[in-house]
Amino acid sequence: MAAADLAKKGGSPDGVQEMITKKRRRNDVLAAHAQQQTMDVDRILLKHQRQSHTRLIVSTVEARAAKRLKAKDEEIERIRIMNWALEERLRNLFMEDQMWRDVAQSHEATANVLRGDLQRALDVQAVHGGGSGHGQEDDAESCCWGENQVPLCAEEEVGTPVVEERPATGVGRCKGCREDAAVVLLLPCRHLCVCAPCAAAAQACPACGSAKNGSVCINFS
Ligand SMILES: [Zn+2]
Ligand SMILES: [Zn+2]
Repeated sequence: MAAADLAKKGGSPDGVQEMITKKRRRNDVLAAHAQQQTMDVDRILLKHQRQSHTRLIVSTVEARAAKRLKAKDEEIERIRIMNWALEERLRNLFMEDQMWRDVAQSHEATANVLRGDLQRALDVQAVHGGGSGHGQEDDAESCCWGENQVPLCAEEEVGTPVVEERPATGVGRCKGCREDAAVVLLLPCRHLCVCAPCAAAAQACPACGSAKNGSVCINFS
């Protein structure tokens, strides 16, 4: 009872001691709080730094990715153009191939017609002719195998003495070397007047002089 009165008055040494202790404790609490605050602020700052660093990394990566994407887009465009050009080239090649096929077919048809004509001529000759040459073989060749076209000879001059002077083999002599048999038909004049080596070397028909643009080797068998 007496001590409480003394404390209220604030004059006793015990009361002062208690006040000092309380004050110190409050200071300790405040210091701890301040330290906690500082740590919190540090943590927030660190977090913020990390976030901004992350943002920087993300934006850098995004920029690189965009750049790479653009390069890829350009490459795709380049490949697309190249692809288009290749397709165009393929189309052209296909058309060219078709054209050459047509040309080959037409040549084959021409060769078949010529072969038929020749066969007919040889058949007719086998029926009407058969005699060996009478020293005028070369003249006969000039007429039938050189200066005139084969079908003309076969159809219109069959049976004339000149035709009968053809050799029985039905194959004339080459007008180039005058040695081998004339087995190659020159185009476009259709003169059957050269052997294979002379036909390969000839620029023009030795019978009529027209420029050679093709040749057909005739199979007599
Ligand atoms: Zn020859
Ligand atoms: Zn000719």
